[in-house]
Amino acid sequence: MRYLSTRGQAAPRDFEAVLLAGLAEDGGLFLPESWPSLSPAEWRGLRGLPYAELAARLMHRFTGDTLPFETLREMTGAAYAGFGHPAVAPLVQLDTRTFALELFHGPTLAFKDMAMQLLGRLFDHALARRGSRITIVGATSGDTGSAAIEACRDRQAIDMVILHPEGRTSEVQRRQMTTVLAPNVANLAIQGSFDDCQDLVKAMFADVPFRQEMGLGAVNSINWARVAAQIPYYAYAALALGAPERPVAFSVPTGNFGNVLAAWAVKQMGLPVERLIIGANRNNILARFLAANDMSIRGVEPSLSPSMDIQVSSNFERLLFELLGRDGAATAGVMQRFRAEGRMPVPDAAWRAATALFRGFTLDDPGTLAEIRHLWASAGYLADPHTAIGTAAARAHAPEDLGIPVVVAATAHPAKFPDAVEQATGLRPPLPPRLADLYEREERYAVVPGTLAEVEAFVRAHARRNG
Ligand SMILES: *Cc1c(COP(=O)(O)O)cnc(C)c1O
Repeated sequence: MRYLSTRGQAAPRDFEAVLLAGLAEDGGLFLPESWPSLSPAEWRGLRGLPYAELAARLMHRFTGDTLPFETLREMTGAAYAGFGHPAVAPLVQLDTRTFALELFHGPTLAFKDMAMQLLGRLFDHALARRGSRITIVGATSGDTGSAAIEACRDRQAIDMVILHPEGRTSEVQRRQMTTVLAPNVANLAIQGSFDDCQDLVKAMFADVPFRQEMGLGAVNSINWARVAAQIPYYAYAALALGAPERPVAFSVPTGNFGNVLAAWAVKQMGLPVERLIIGANRNNILARFLAANDMSIRGVEPSLSPSMDIQVSSNFERLLFELLGRDGAATAGVMQRFRAEGRMPVPDAAWRAATALFRGFTLDDPGTLAEIRHLWASAGYLADPHTAIGTAAARAHAPEDLGIPVVVAATAHPAKFPDAVEQATGLRPPLPPRLADLYEREERYAVVPGTLAEVEAFVRAHARRNG
C-alpha cells in the first residue's frame, strides 16, 4: 500500500513514512493510492469479532508490509485494553432506528482516544525501528492535549511537552493532563492565552537549529494514521446492524472533518453507506458549503461544543481531491485560492457530487440544550453537547427508508461537559469509576511567563533527561 499527496507533487510513500511525515512536502495530505476494497463475503467474515481484532484486520489493509500483522494485533490489543467498556465502542439504541456509537470510553473520555491510543504505539514502534527519537511539542486549550499525553505516556522513543494557558482550561481538562506522572511527559502552564501557547509552539518549529537539535514532531489531526484508525469503528457499527446486506447512515458532529472522512472511507471500502450527515454548531462552514456551495471563512465564535469551534476543516482537502477526480494540480489550485481569498472555489459538478451523499445541519446553543433535554426525557440518555448535535442532525436528515438505521457518533462522555448537561437536565453526570479519584490525584506542572527562551530551555532540559 502506497500513499500519494492531494497536491500531486510529493513522491509516493509507504505507511510508516506517511505516519512520521504528517503533512506532505508539497503542503498536501496523504491518501491511499487506491482504496482497499472487501467483498461482501469478506465483510461478513469480520462480523462479531472483538473490536481490537477487527481494528487490526482493517488497519492491516493500510499498513501493508511496513508492519507484521502480529505486531499490529498486539498494538490494537494494548491500545483498547484500557477502555472502560468491554465492547470498546458500544452501540446504544435511542429510538426505533437511531443508535449512538459511543466512542468516549477511552482514558480522556472523548473519541480522539480511539485513534490516539493506537497512534502513540505506531509512532513508538516506527521510531524504535529506525533508531531515532522525537520530542513532541503541542499547544492545547484542553482536549487534544490530554488525548496526546495519554497516547504517548511511557513511550520509549517519545518525549513530550504540552503547553496550556494557565487557569484557562477546565479543572477536569487540566487534571487529565497534569496528573499523568510519566517520566517522558511534561506540562507547562503559560501565563497567557491559548493563542500565546500556539505562537510559542510555532516559534519553536520556526527555530530550525532548535527543531533539529530536539527532533521536534507533532501529532496533528491531518495525520493519515489518525483517519485510518477511525475507520474500524464505523465498520464495527455497520456490521453489527446488518451490513453488508443492510445499508446504514452515519451522523457525525464535525470540526476538522477527520471523523466523518473515516465514515466516508468505509463506503469506499465496500460497505453500503447510504448517507453521511454532518452536524455543526454556529461555526458551520461545512453546512454552509453543502447548502449553497459557500465554503467561506468567518471568525470563530465560542459555543457549548468547543471541540467543533473551528474556522477551516483541514481534512476536507482529502474529500476535495476525490471530488476533483484525484487531480492533484486542480486540488492545489483550489486550496491556494482558498488561502488567498478566504472562499473555496469548488466547481459546481464537484459540489453536486458531495451533496448526493452528504447532508449538513446547524444547531445553536439553545437548540443543543433542548436536544440534550429531549434525549434525557425520551430515552433516559445523557448526551454531551457534541453528541446532541449529532442526534438532532440525524433526526433532521435521516433517509426516507425507515429500514435504514442511523448511527450517531457519540464523541464525548457527558461528564466531560457537566455544566451544559446540568443546565439542560438538572443532572450533573458523574465521572466513570476509573476516573472518580481524578480530583485527589497528584498534579505536576511548571508555570512559566512564556518567553521563547524560557520555553525552549524547559523543552531542552526535559528531552535530555530522557535522552
Ligand atoms: C475533535 C472532536 C470533534 C470533531 O472531530 P473532527 O474529526 O475534528 O471532525 C467532535 N466532538 C468532540 C468531542 C471532539 O473532541
